[in-house]
Amino acid sequence: MSINASNKSHDDSGFEDIQSCVSACSLPSDLDFSDRKFPIEKSEDQWRLALSELSYKVARKHGTEPPFQNPYHDQKAMGVYLCVGCEAPLFSSEDKFDSGTGWPSFSQSIDRRILAEQVDTSYGMRRVEVHCALCGSHQGHVFPDGPAPTNLRYCINSASLKFEPSDSEEALNQKILTWYSSEHFEKKSNK
Ligand SMILES: [Zn+2]
Repeated sequence: MSINASNKSHDDSGFEDIQSCVSACSLPSDLDFSDRKFPIEKSEDQWRLALSELSYKVARKHGTEPPFQNPYHDQKAMGVYLCVGCEAPLFSSEDKFDSGTGWPSFSQSIDRRILAEQVDTSYGMRRVEVHCALCGSHQGHVFPDGPAPTNLRYCINSASLKFEPSDSEEALNQKILTWYSSEHFEKKSNK
């Protein structure tokens, strides 16, 4: 597997082994968060009503959408990517890059307090699953083969995201700062 750094050959992009990257991303996660408590809780029926069928399957049932056939994999517009479940800002277009895998890829999240990690050992692999820390919605996985300086590749499902465009870098940063400095965020993250 490409995740195993000792077996991986590197080039300047860090993406030589695209096929391995793709297969690691394409497998769903078998994690079960049904007994976990998150600051934002909804019943299964409420989640089903709030989300599209695909978003429910991916975000709430740890599924994976098909590569390339998803709306954000090649999107280059400026803006913020919100959690589909609770609209917390998770990723910025500033950190998005083309990984060639067919899924939206980011070199970092906006704030690691909001994008939580969980080790996922399904399918005989050791992967790190990432989910929204506020509502528990599954986002994807993070791999250590991304571009410098973080060397991380967050392989995320479009179905777990909601894109909100911004007119300028300033507007984008302001939107993120406003959300993260709001009481709204403090209350939720301190629960
Ligand atoms: Zn969320």
